[in-house]
Amino acid sequence: MEDLRNAIRDIPDFPKKGIVFKDITTLLSDAKSYHRMVDLIAHRYIGQKIDQIVGIEARGFILGAALAYKLGTGITLVRKPGKLPYKTIQKTYQLEYGTDSLEIHSDAFKGGDRVIVADDLLATGGTVAAVIEMVEDCGAQIVECAFLAELEFLKGREKLQSHKVFSLLKF
Ligand code: 5GP
Repeated sequence: MEDLRNAIRDIPDFPKKGIVFKDITTLLSDAKSYHRMVDLIAHRYIGQKIDQIVGIEARGFILGAALAYKLGTGITLVRKPGKLPYKTIQKTYQLEYGTDSLEIHSDAFKGGDRVIVADDLLATGGTVAAVIEMVEDCGAQIVECAFLAELEFLKGREKLQSHKVFSLLKF
């Protein structure tokens, strides 16, 4: 797992001063690391009944689409406002400064669909908490939220209460 950790690089002062951003593009562009990441995460769910993967814009699509392909499921997209063409449910959530919003198609799931929510990184948990609410409002059941990486010091898991959370790499 150490080689996967090392495939992610730190970018100081991005997107603003004082933040050390985990840049996963270096892991994604390395074939061995990218395939290993997908295989290790997908392995958890093989043999379970999973109906959909939910991918969060934009880096969550990269993990989400690969998981869906491996597990033989479809993928549902959670996108920034104004990008989805049909009827949507929208959720606004708090950022450090200001707010952000995400949308999902209101007819994304059949009642009781069992889904995995996928994103690249769990930080404060605000993004995935908003996605969990939208997915459940659309009638799906969340089996687990899966991340490539987690910034443990930000305690994002605490926002997700009873939901199961898996992260491959912890920083
Ligand atoms: P949260 O809502 O948990 O604070 O932030 C998580 C969201 O912001 C994810 O969608 C993730 O893509 C993005 N994010 C926040 N910090 C980082 C980071 O250091 N690296 C990467 N790759 N994404 C981040």
